[in-house]
Amino acid sequence: MKILVTGGAGFIGSAVIRHLISLDYEIVCVDKLTYASSLDSLHSVLDNPLFSMENKDICDAKAISTIFKNHKPDKVLHLAAETHVDRSIDSPDAFINSNIIGTYTLIQLALDYWNGLDNKQKSLFRFHHVSTDEVFGDLEINDPPFSEDTPYDPSSPYSASKASSDHIVRSWHRTYKLPILLSNCSNNYGPFQFPEKLIPMTIIKAIQGQNIPVYGQGDQIRDWLYVDDHITALVKILNEGVVGESYNVGGDCEKTNIEVVSTICDILDNLITKRPNGISSFTDLITFVEDRPGHDKRYAINATKIKQELNWEPSETLETGMHKTITWYLENQEWLDNIINTKYQGNRLGLRV
Ligand code: NAD
Repeated sequence: MKILVTGGAGFIGSAVIRHLISLDYEIVCVDKLTYASSLDSLHSVLDNPLFSMENKDICDAKAISTIFKNHKPDKVLHLAAETHVDRSIDSPDAFINSNIIGTYTLIQLALDYWNGLDNKQKSLFRFHHVSTDEVFGDLEINDPPFSEDTPYDPSSPYSASKASSDHIVRSWHRTYKLPILLSNCSNNYGPFQFPEKLIPMTIIKAIQGQNIPVYGQGDQIRDWLYVDDHITALVKILNEGVVGESYNVGGDCEKTNIEVVSTICDILDNLITKRPNGISSFTDLITFVEDRPGHDKRYAINATKIKQELNWEPSETLETGMHKTITWYLENQEWLDNIINTKYQGNRLGLRV
């Protein structure tokens, strides 16, 4: 089975590729290699004969058409996107281009390709679009979690661009009968996540003895999922999902940002006896900073559908997943140093209002 994975040099894309290669899938990775990508994340598969790399932009119709023609994938797993909310507030252009125009370009070429397949290949083909729970907007504290039927109400340029791409993908099924699948997942964390996101940023600031910035009072609630649990959900949906359906994926793990940051500090307190800058606990580094504009209060996912229909369950709790994540960052300082030295020094983003 050959899968075309877009965004495969990113955090979730590289995890899914490492997993699929271990299951003997053939992979074509299409990635424009933006600041958020890291070929080091694919280090273990780069020389594997099952793996091919195409350093291309999904907005480049000519290049993507050639990739379909040359590689003839059985399925597409579409993850390529601009993903950081703060950056979408600073400069929305890249989000509109990659997330909306890119998805349109890719799915239109997937449709052309699908129309040229024989009946058997046609019936097996899938276009799986990977999306986020942020398309649903935010929840009040007593609201029920997002289900697949929750109306879309995105708040940020990032979530609006993802919502738009979800609508495009659904309409290509309804109008052209392209066999699509869609998943909306909660916040992921784990190894190889770019250090601008909350969890890796907290770990890095802490081990460097720098202040750990927490937006507002840290009372925003997110539903956290360890990345490998997202990967098992994606593989199940890709192989067993019902065409045209969407699946919400989440960890039943609602935590405030301050709870997450405190959990990281507690684990670090247990793992590291020699603390930086004479602090007695890593929690001493927590500093509350001005909130992000339009910051969503609460996200929560009702994942009953994927659990009941596809028999999926997450296997990590926040504590076990976080322990694995922190240990990985402590043991992979080189990966981090490379990013900090070349791409991102931990500066605050998203303040342009
Ligand atoms: P990421 O930012 O780590 O990686 C995105 C990858 O896409 C990068 O390698 C980048 O180079 C590539 N890319 C961006 N624009 C491109 C373009 N125009 N052409 C080709 N490649 C391009 O993102 P991630 O966290 O791995 O997220 C992957 C997908 O999962 C995204 O679609 C995101 O919306 C979705 N998602 C992420 C989370 C999360 O918590 N990280 C949760 C739910 C859904």
